Amino acid sequence: MIYAIISDIHGNLAALQQVIRRIGEVGCDRIVCLGDIVGYGPFPNECCEIIQEKADICIIGNHDHAAIGKTGVDYFNQYARSALGWTIEELTSTNKQFLQGLDVQVIENELFFVHAAPIEPLQWNYVLSLYDARDNFHAFDQKACFIGHSHVAAIFSYEDGEFPTVESGNPTTLFDGFRYIINVGSVGQPRDRNPDSCFALYDADSTVLKLERVAYDIKETQAAMRQKKLPAFLIERLPLGR
Ligand code: ZN
Repeated sequence: MIYAIISDIHGNLAALQQVIRRIGEVGCDRIVCLGDIVGYGPFPNECCEIIQEKADICIIGNHDHAAIGKTGVDYFNQYARSALGWTIEELTSTNKQFLQGLDVQVIENELFFVHAAPIEPLQWNYVLSLYDARDNFHAFDQKACFIGHSHVAAIFSYEDGEFPTVESGNPTTLFDGFRYIINVGSVGQPRDRNPDSCFALYDADSTVLKLERVAYDIKETQAAMRQKKLPAFLIERLPLGR
């Protein structure tokens, strides 16, 4: 069983289309979306529609949650808040209903899928450091927990009684006796200084995990953002990958 796991699309249609195209080329059995389909970017409706059609599992992110009025906008910085206000106006009621129906977490085949830290997922905490990872390994029992939210891909491994470590290989094999927290990075707004979209492919039979990067037409997304008068800061960060 091969999973393609994507996250943090943020209304970036050009990026999502390239990622879906790549997934089609490599092939997979299940597509999992870890949320933040909307927020920041210029095409929230189109991205909701593609995800609804393509994803077998779809988790809610904090921007999706805010777009349906469940997480207060006070949680967000000024740029995110401004883009969210625009997104809330733009989203159709059908797509708001779609977001309303998304899961907070899903467990399947020893894999735990959630948007942010698995400890209290709706608190939207980050897993950035080894200390964050250590605390969060106690929040699930499955072999691997796939997350998004920080827009920075990372693989943390953990053996009972030991301190977690970061795995830097790509592809990486998930070994017996270890558990993993895997941040799959972001499709629509990568923040690891590589502007290309990021997602994960996981083969549950061979336990090989690969982080994939896909270039997309950033200028196309930026032009649409300008046209829709989204904040300049959000437009300028895309080619910097931060
Ligand atoms: Zn996000």
